[in-house]
Amino acid sequence: MVHRVTICSGRNFRVDSPPGHALMTPELAHELHRVLDRFGRDITNGCGNKVGVFFKPGIFGHHKVGRAADIYAVGGVGFDIWKRRWDAAQQKVARVKNAFERQTILENERRNNLGWRLYKTLQNCGRWSQPHGFPIQLFGPWTREEGAWKLISYIVLKAHRDHIHVAK
Ligand SMILES: [Zn+2]
Repeated sequence: MVHRVTICSGRNFRVDSPPGHALMTPELAHELHRVLDRFGRDITNGCGNKVGVFFKPGIFGHHKVGRAADIYAVGGVGFDIWKRRWDAAQQKVARVKNAFERQTILENERRNNLGWRLYKTLQNCGRWSQPHGFPIQLFGPWTREEGAWKLISYIVLKAHRDHIHVAK
């Protein structure tokens, strides 16, 4: 029998999903809690508001033993929407000739796109599992562009277009 706990809201983030959506090992809950709190602090600048995250239960692989979690929304917006917004900004940048204007669009998107920012925080501040011969277990809509597993197959990428999967 695997011991599972549910991840609770932290000082700087709030779990919007029902407790049963995010049952995981204490090790994963602890690591996610640490990284989400860091993310929330960066986003809110400690102004008292908490940023919301929404989990959904997973079925396959690491999920079977509670070693994985799937995050579907941040700030009340789904990752498919955040990614669509991100792609639209990149396409806009490609059309703009003025370098300063291009830089401004990119900086705005990097600041305001909470989906991308959460992915980068999970990537830069989290310690996730990497089974021998397998990529680091952090998959989401940005994995091909941002890594770590830039050679992610189309099928796996498509399976993670609307959520971020982490395992520990
Ligand atoms: Zn998953």
